[in-house]
Amino acid sequence: MSVRWPDGKRFAFSIFDDPDAQTLSEGRRVYSFLADLGFRTTRGVWPLGATREVNSLGETCANPEYLAHNLELQKLGFEMGYHNATPHSVVREETRQALDLFKNYFGHDPRAMANHYNRDAIYWGSARLTGSLARAVYSASTLSKNNNRFRGEVEGEPEFWGDLCRERIEYCRNFVYADIDTLAVCPWMPYHDPLRPFVRNWYSAADGANIKNYIRMLSESNQDRLEEQGGACIMYTHFGHGFVENETLDSRFSDLMTRLSKKNGWFVPVSTLLDYVADRRGRVEIGASERNRLQSRWLWQKIFRGTS
Ligand SMILES: [Zn+2]
Repeated sequence: MSVRWPDGKRFAFSIFDDPDAQTLSEGRRVYSFLADLGFRTTRGVWPLGATREVNSLGETCANPEYLAHNLELQKLGFEMGYHNATPHSVVREETRQALDLFKNYFGHDPRAMANHYNRDAIYWGSARLTGSLARAVYSASTLSKNNNRFRGEVEGEPEFWGDLCRERIEYCRNFVYADIDTLAVCPWMPYHDPLRPFVRNWYSAADGANIKNYIRMLSESNQDRLEEQGGACIMYTHFGHGFVENETLDSRFSDLMTRLSKKNGWFVPVSTLLDYVADRRGRVEIGASERNRLQSRWLWQKIFRGTS
């Protein structure tokens, strides 16, 4: 589908930044750079401080300096997104507490989220897929991981919070593709999947998981194609994965983002972008054929190209 972007902009570009492993100083370095170039994107956060052993490094909003930085960014127009409660699995009451904290800190419920690999992740692991064949292929392709441990949508489990997700969060990420034009590969987004009723709307993303994938995805030719197609990119990344070394930004990242910033693009947070698309086109409920297309393309790319 093609969308007419506001103010004569030719394409849209956003980022969801996953907080895994990101230090305070890396975050400061990356975000002052993005802010100066005019990007306003989405930063995933953990609202709740860890109380048990963590499964990932990275800051939580329990660190006052980190929280202050997030509030500064929010003031500038960046969006804060949800990345589950904290970097370890939590039970329902902790998720509720995390959502309440988020609301206290940032003034409203989170609008966009992406799962962290906690047990409280929602429709995650093999539950991302529909059908026993697809799940079997997926499990075979990720042999080393336990893909059936996620419980966020499973009623009666201690980690269940599906109803809270449906009440409080608008957009959740599922599939990630090796294509810069996310809207071209997933023209239905934001979409509702009736087989996954606790998520109001899903979105897809482009694979920029670490510095290597990000700079490959944002190559000059891909940027130009995104612009020509009038498309929309939602880049999924971890700014803690190789973007800053010795306080210095990766120079290729910095060059590519500077080049992109000079184009006539709409550089807005994830939920601003998705709201706009949904307002223009209406909400989509996908059926079996759309679901199949989305998941087989994703599985294919995961197996043969190693996308996340
Ligand atoms: Zn994560």
